[in-house]
This record gives sequence, C-alpha cells and structure tokens, in this order.
Amino acid sequence: MTTIKLHNTKSRSKEAFAPINPQNVRMYVCGPTVYDRAHLGNARPVVVFDVLFRLLRHVYGADHVTYARNFTDVDDKINARAAESGREIGEITAETTQWFLDDMGALGALEPTHMPRATQYIPQMVAMIADLIARGHAYAAEGHVLFAVDSWREGYGQLSGRSVDDMIAGARVEVAPYKKNPMDFVLWKPSDAEQPGWESPWGRGRPGWHIECSAMSHDLLGDSFDIHGGGNDLMFPHHENEIAQSCCANPKGEFARYWLHNEMLQVEGKKMSKSLGNFFTVRDLLDKGVPGEVVRFVFLQTHYRKPMDWTEKKAAEAEKTLRRWRKLSDGVQPGKPDEVVLQPLYDDLNTSDTIQRLRAMARAIELDLETPEGKEKLEDFVATANLLGLLHDGLGDWTAAPSVDLSAHEAQLFAARQTAMETKDFAEVDRLKSAYTEAGLEVRMSKTGVELVPGRGFDAAKLEALA
Ligand code: AMP
Ligand code: ZN
Repeated sequence: MTTIKLHNTKSRSKEAFAPINPQNVRMYVCGPTVYDRAHLGNARPVVVFDVLFRLLRHVYGADHVTYARNFTDVDDKINARAAESGREIGEITAETTQWFLDDMGALGALEPTHMPRATQYIPQMVAMIADLIARGHAYAAEGHVLFAVDSWREGYGQLSGRSVDDMIAGARVEVAPYKKNPMDFVLWKPSDAEQPGWESPWGRGRPGWHIECSAMSHDLLGDSFDIHGGGNDLMFPHHENEIAQSCCANPKGEFARYWLHNEMLQVEGKKMSKSLGNFFTVRDLLDKGVPGEVVRFVFLQTHYRKPMDWTEKKAAEAEKTLRRWRKLSDGVQPGKPDEVVLQPLYDDLNTSDTIQRLRAMARAIELDLETPEGKEKLEDFVATANLLGLLHDGLGDWTAAPSVDLSAHEAQLFAARQTAMETKDFAEVDRLKSAYTEAGLEVRMSKTGVELVPGRGFDAAKLEALA
C-alpha cells in the first residue's frame, strides 16, 4: 500500500499518514454557514478535501473511508438574513444548503458520507456542554455557558502555536462582564423570543459556533479520528476551540490526529472582497458559462498550502486544455490510475505537479494513439484524471454543442435579410443579429444561408423572447 504524506499543522511538518483503523479512515471538514450562495473562496476547501477523499478511497478502498462535513444552520448571520428578508430561517437554510450541494456538485465534488446539520445535534451539544461543566472546564453565567481556558492552559493554543498570554495580547477578544478570562469562549448563549432557541439546563438558548463541530465529529467519528480539515482562517480560534472542547470532554481520546489547512483564494492578485468589486459566487461563474470542471482544474493547479490566484487567463487556458483532453478521451472507458503520474499526490496532495505529469501523459498519448500501448495508456489517462475528479460523466459533457434546434431562427434571419435587400431597411436584420449575439450565438451569414453557432455562455432562454 502506498504511503500518503500529509502536512500536519499540529506538528508543523510532513508526516507519513497512518490511519487508526485502515478499515475505516475518518475525516472531518468544517462546512459552510448556510445563509447565502458560496463564493469562489468557499469552494477551495471543498475541492481540496474532495481530492483527499478520492485519494483515501483509492488507497484504502471506497467503503473504508468516512467523510463528515457539517452545515452550520444556526448562526446570527442566518438570523439577520431572515430578519431583513422577512423569510423563515428554515426556508433560508434549506434553500442555501441545496444551492451549496448543487454548486459543489458542478465542481465535481463527491458528497461526503455524512452531512450533519447543527440543528439536528442540539441534544448532543447540550450533553457535551453539561459534561464540560461537570469536569470543571466550563461555567454558566448569566444565561451563557463559557469554556474556561484557564482549566486547560497546557493544551490551549498548541495547534496555532501560541500561548494563552500571547493570544490575549494579540486577539480581538470580546470582553464581557460574565467572562472570568477574556479568552473564555461561548458554548451556549441565551435567545430572546425572536431568536431561534432550545430549552436547556441554562435556559432557552442556542449553541455557540465551535461546539457543533466537537459534538458532531464525536457522534459520527468517535473520540479519536484521523484527519480534520478546513481553511487556515479557521485555525484560530475555531479549531483551537474545537480541540479544547473535544479533548476536555473526551480525555481518553485524541480527537483529530492530522490537521490540514488550505490557504486562501485571491482574485486577480487581490483579496476577494465586496468593496473591491471582485467578489463573486460559484454560481455567478457557472451562469457566465464557465464550466465547473474548468474551475476545478484551475484550483488543482495550485498546491493547497499556497495562496491561489483565480484569474480569467487561467480559466481560459484550463478550458482549452480540458477541451483537448475531452476530445482525446471521448468514449474511452477508464483503465487504472497511473501511479507515476499520481506520485506527487501522495506527497502532501501536490495536485499542481500531478497536473503537470498528466499534461505530459496527454502529449505522449497524442503522438502514440494508433498503437495498442497508446490505447491502453489513454484508458489509464482517463482513470488518473478521474481520480482528480476530472473528465468524468458527473461533470456533464460541456464541450458538446448544446442540442437546441436553431433552424427556425436561422430561417427567420434569412427571411429578414431577403426582405431587407429589397426595402434597403436593415433595422430588423440588425435587431435579430444583436439579439442572437446577446444570447451567446455566433452569427454566420453567407449569400446562401444563415448559420447560428452556439458559443461559450449560450443561453437558449434568451431566444424565447424573439418570436
Ligand atoms: P465562511 O464563509 O467565512 O464561513 O467560510 C466557509 C469556509 O470557506 C471556511 O472553510 C473558510 O476557510 C473557507 N474560505 C472562506 N474564504 C476563503 C477564501 N478566500 N479562500 C479559501 N477558503 C475560504
Ligand atoms: Zn468546525
């Protein structure tokens, strides 16, 4: 069995990955808060950990890997969205959850084995909080329950490599009169009549953010599991707090052994932000006609521990490459993944080098298509690309021309032009031409006829208004 090496944030070094139980390799990744469409940055951890999930399944067998990723469906951002839109919270979270699954599916991400929603785990969270109080790691005050950081000074801060004192000095911690130490963080907080709330020993309230991941990972994966992942913006305080909660509630367990963090995504060299006007969602890109597979390919070209820059140029190049690969592999059944091409992937998920090797493999195959060896290599090429989540059916055959019958439109434009030749009034011809172009069609006119060719971003719905 090939060994996978992973960079463990906890040890700040690359380690050989050895699962607790190779029959059941377990991974937990922090998922989205569901109140809006996922932006492009949110998709990065999804794709990164999808590749790891696929690699683990390849090495240990598809039935021997358990992957859990949560949906945070109780959060003050969701409450605010409900208040401003006048919609029910449950309606917003259900809609946004489905959007997330659709959008990530379009990027070729497999669904995790478990996708727990926070609101379905309130009893487990309440039990864990009560347990933390009983063990002297948490205290109730003014309807809140807080984790007492002083009760676990020896462990707190180890992941991010800071001492409690450094953290107090450097962090923007919320000072509140009911906190014994400014670093103490909320496990439970009171809800007013307008806010979502559940009955608890501390009154009607709702959980703080961090406790859900501890409760859900424990319920689904146990006291000790293998991998915990997320964006590096979550390392502190979220992951540090998860560790404190889980290790103090389950002192016999180790919680997560390997901590993996992906770097952030930028756009055209700048931080993605609403104020810079470079903020967009995955759905915005898909609606613009950028295929999900192209987004995935661009992501894979950068190693997950490096900042990645999304640029239109990269997307255009990725599309060209994928069109070539899809043509090359059209109708070819997958053989077996090429382990030489995959070698960098075993080395801390170096997708960038793996893609380089895949490119070289494609070039070699193009020169050698007629021989039996070439044909076999092509099958292996497809299997290797599949392992990275590329070139599979789930992504849709986006390179094929859309099968829309355009003959009526072609006839309409042709007739309009015949009329215009006599009347010398080309207004109607111009109107139709610009409408077709607007719908994403290339208009080719010759003496004998009219041809409308769908291009990138073709939108058939826009033709309906043109009767
Ligand atoms: P948030 O929307 O901030 O709750 O983040 C949800 C997930 O997306 C977390 O795992 C973050 O680490 C990740 N994330 C947010 N922004 C970015 C970004 N610009 N690049 C990469 N990951 C991000
Ligand atoms: Zn989490």
